[in-house]
Order: sequence, then structure tokens, then C-alpha cells
Amino acid sequence: MTELPLQRRHGYGRGCVITRRACFSASHLYWLPELSLEENQSRFGSCAFKPGHGHNYELIVSMGGGLDSDGMVLNLSDVKHAITKEVTDQLDFRFINETWPEFDLSRADGCLPTTEALVRIIWKRLESHLPLVAMRLYEQPGLWADYLGNAMNAFLTIRTHFAAAHRLARPELTLEENKKIYGKCARPNGHGHNYLVDITVRGDIDTRTGMICDLGELNKLVDELVVEPFDHTFLNKDIEHFSTCVPTAENIALHIADILAAPISGIGAQLHKVRLQESPNNAAEVYGEAPMLHMMPASLEAVVAK
Ligand SMILES: [Zn+2]
Ligand SMILES: [Zn+2]
Repeated sequence: MTELPLQRRHGYGRGCVITRRACFSASHLYWLPELSLEENQSRFGSCAFKPGHGHNYELIVSMGGGLDSDGMVLNLSDVKHAITKEVTDQLDFRFINETWPEFDLSRADGCLPTTEALVRIIWKRLESHLPLVAMRLYEQPGLWADYLGNAMNAFLTIRTHFAAAHRLARPELTLEENKKIYGKCARPNGHGHNYLVDITVRGDIDTRTGMICDLGELNKLVDELVVEPFDHTFLNKDIEHFSTCVPTAENIALHIADILAAPISGIGAQLHKVRLQESPNNAAEVYGEAPMLHMMPASLEAVVAK
């Protein structure tokens, strides 16, 4: 066995992205002092109920770089220490509005501690300690924000679901031909799925409300335009688009993106992605805009395979 030169042992210098997960529980309140009680409640709904409410947050930190002589991007105990000291020790079991000055609403530059505002501020606090490439913050399993270090620009995703039946068959083909293409999915009387739908929007975080767009409005659009019309239907017969277009997971995701793109622009955000999970084993993703734009963090260049 030829021995590698010292400087190339243990993967030294090769690129890799690592992730670390950290959890904290904290409360917050959406309340702007310049608005009346009625205005706060109409804009922020139950999030404006005093004294606030809490979430079990889950933070996923992605870091990239070349391996050191120990075969690691970073020593995980240093990573854990930085996240604990700079983030979780300061936020865990706290009222977020009263922790960091960025969320002090008596200041003109204070902003509401929304998921997208919080992930950006956590990035700011960690960027001098860790080689960050991406960060995700879950407020709950069906709501999370992603931040890639691009000024005020961030992504917000909501997860919802509906149940529907479909049959995969092209009407211009015979049953035998359809079975060859679609297998069991071509059986004449259809079958059903519990579909999971993730809708990701992108936009600039408002410096005062901390929001990319009004979350209540976004939930309402997805409920009214997708969940309500699709839920408990036989897609081929009940949704006009699928009377002439075979309702594969791909086509359902594309149709959802077509339905949502304009209304989401109307509430000030950009539809970034629709992900439709049909079963534990298959999903389809479509993009409302170029997948990464020019948003790749510079630090990712260091991890291109060598
Ligand atoms: Zn909340
Ligand atoms: Zn199916």
C-alpha cells in the first residue's frame, strides 16, 4: 500500500458540507406599538394575543469547507459550543421580543420576531464564528424559513395536505397500452393518495413586520385555491385541468404552481417552489423561478469536489 503524503491524509483539503441541528423553546408576540389594538389584531390575528405564545424551534445550520488534518470540516464540539453560546443559551425559554435588540419594537429599527426575521438574525450572530452556507429554522413542522446570507432576502415554506383520487391513463390509448406505461395506476376505477404539499415563497423581509408576506394571506390563498378545491376529489373528473391532462404528481405540482404564482405575487412575494409528495416513496418539485438564482453563498465554492 502506497502511503499518502502527510498533507493528503485523512481527506485533508477535500470539500464537504456538514449540518448541525439545535433546538430551543421560546415565546413571542406580534405587536407593533404604532398600531392600535384593533389594527394589531386584524394584521397579526391570534399572534397579537397578549402576553404571547410559544414554539419549539428547530434550527438546522449548514457549514462548508475543506477537511482539516483530522478529517473534519470543523470539530463538532466547537460547532455545538458556538451555537449554544451565541443562540440557544440566549433564546431558550425566553420571550424573544425581550432578548435581542433587533426585536426591540420601541426602537425604530426593531422588527417582529417572525421565523424569517429570526433565522436572518441567528445567521448574523453566527456568521463570524462558523463558515455558514445555509440555515433553516422550523417554527413548527409545517412552517419554516430558509436563509442563505443574501441581505434581506429569505424563503418561507408552509406545508399543507389534501386527499384525492386519480387515474393515470391517456384517453387516446387503449387500456393495455396505458397499463404498459402506468402499471397499476392505469386501473380503470382509480386509487387515492394523501398528498403533502410544500409551498415555498421568496422575498425581502420587511424591516418592521419581519415578514416576507402576510402569512395569514398566504395560508388563505393555498387553502382557497388548492386545498379546498382539490381535497376529497377524483382529480380526473372534478378538476377541469385534469380532464385533458394526466394527473401525475409532476402535473399536479405544475398545476398548483400555475394556480398560485400570480396570487402570491399579489401579496408581495415570489412563488419559489412547489413540492408535492404523493407517497413516502415519491415526490415532485417544480420551481416558479430559477432554482438557486445567483444566491449560492461564496463559501460553497470551497466545497466543490476535489
Ligand atoms: Zn408564533
Ligand atoms: Zn397514484
